[in-house]
Amino acid sequence: MSERKNELFIYNSLSGQKEKFVPIHKNFVGLYVCGPTVYSNVHLGNCRTFMSFDLVYRYLLHLGYKVRYVRNITDVGHLESDGDTGEDKIAKRARLEQLEPMEIVQEYTIDFHDVLNEFNNLPPSIEPTATGHIIEQIEMIKEIISNGYAYEVNGSVYFDVLKFNEKFPYGELSGRKIEDLISGSRDLDGQEEKRNSLDFALWKNASSEHIMKWPSPWGIGFPGWHLECSAMSTKYLGDHFDIHGGGMDLKFPHHECEIAQGCASTGKSPVNYWMHGNMLTLNGRKMSKSTGNSILPKEMFAGTNDQLEKAYSPSVVRFFTMQAHYRSTLDFTSEALNASEKGFERLMDAVSLLPKLNSSESSSIDVQALIATFYTAMNDDFNAPILVANLFDAVKFINSVNDGKATVSASDLSLLTKEIQAFVFNVLGLKLSEKIEESKLEPVMDLVLELRQQARANKDWTTSDQIRDGLANAGITVKDGKDGSVWR
Ligand code: AMP
Ligand code: ZN
Repeated sequence: MSERKNELFIYNSLSGQKEKFVPIHKNFVGLYVCGPTVYSNVHLGNCRTFMSFDLVYRYLLHLGYKVRYVRNITDVGHLESDGDTGEDKIAKRARLEQLEPMEIVQEYTIDFHDVLNEFNNLPPSIEPTATGHIIEQIEMIKEIISNGYAYEVNGSVYFDVLKFNEKFPYGELSGRKIEDLISGSRDLDGQEEKRNSLDFALWKNASSEHIMKWPSPWGIGFPGWHLECSAMSTKYLGDHFDIHGGGMDLKFPHHECEIAQGCASTGKSPVNYWMHGNMLTLNGRKMSKSTGNSILPKEMFAGTNDQLEKAYSPSVVRFFTMQAHYRSTLDFTSEALNASEKGFERLMDAVSLLPKLNSSESSSIDVQALIATFYTAMNDDFNAPILVANLFDAVKFINSVNDGKATVSASDLSLLTKEIQAFVFNVLGLKLSEKIEESKLEPVMDLVLELRQQARANKDWTTSDQIRDGLANAGITVKDGKDGSVWR
């Protein structure tokens, strides 16, 4: 596979161009992705970003790279405003629910892991937490202060953006000019400690009622949100590493500040390739918990959200997200999901046919050229929708061989089987089992639902409820609609 390793191009948000991927250390890749702030359940939008980077991770592994994938858990320091104002999101939730902050963190970290596991995301190699790296964050602040790019006021430490901009360009990643940022910024209302409104907190002094706080050389306080990713990526991947990813909405200020912190502490830009995933939208607007415009994965799998016609399996949802390029927005609609479900089944039917195909003397198409298109698609900035289209060319061929209208040689068949299975299961991360399990259950469920229908027709509510509750206990939900009942 080595020659294909040398053909990978990645769109680098920093240069705005697709660039050939050359790792810092041959055969090794350091990958950092910003993880969730664990103060609420992850919604499908969050999951899209994590699935996009799971695809990146999986494809790098498929190419034979040894990847160290670090994805953090933000469990302190992310304030409500994304800037330096408002309450800490986790502390606020803890206050409202009268729980320990770490109970909130535990509950939503478990939810995050459960959901990503349902979507068949691979776990990262290291999953560090912000609270577990307070010492490293304090050390980084000390370095930034000693290099002259931060200042202390009343127990808080701020990054001096204007000073930094004298030596390094600030705003390069998000394409912002410092003059525009200054003229567009608000006055220092409530943040008078800052020399300039663009400055951001590295450390915040904690009031006596603040619940998440630690001792530091500047007094009792807590770290600023942007700092944790710089401290943890440096610790596990070094001062300078290959790829940093996150959702598009993190480009500014979060990633811009990460670049500034890295340059200010080590003198060099920390990351070679910046990658940003685009947003999942619902009703044309960014899916977001705070605006109420969101769907939870569990509602999706159970079909219990009013915006959905029915339930969808995790693999179908994953397949749906893979049918859009990670840099494009993707709008979530029932029609699009229904189409993905049909496509997913067609693909899986063909994959199941592969071991049953008969081989011939020769192949009626160039199978190696067909397989090469899978690599071409993914080497072009992880273009999963093109990969899926190319896999459907293979589906057509498989079905034609099965119908006796095309032929495949034994060696081509074994190569095609190996590559298709690798791309469908290992790279796209889809799973066959759910569909097979469901198809085995189909006739049984038809019978059970018919008996329930008869009970309902006879107004025998006890039996009909007994059947529904029994199914629920077995993890099967039934939704009654005007065209009958559907189950998952
Ligand atoms: P947060 O927990 O808010 O820091 O978000 C975790 C990740 O989800 C970040 O990388 C965000 O950019 C990403 N994200 C948030 N909303 C969406 C969305 N609607 N579509 C795709 N990614 C999102
Ligand atoms: Zn981050």
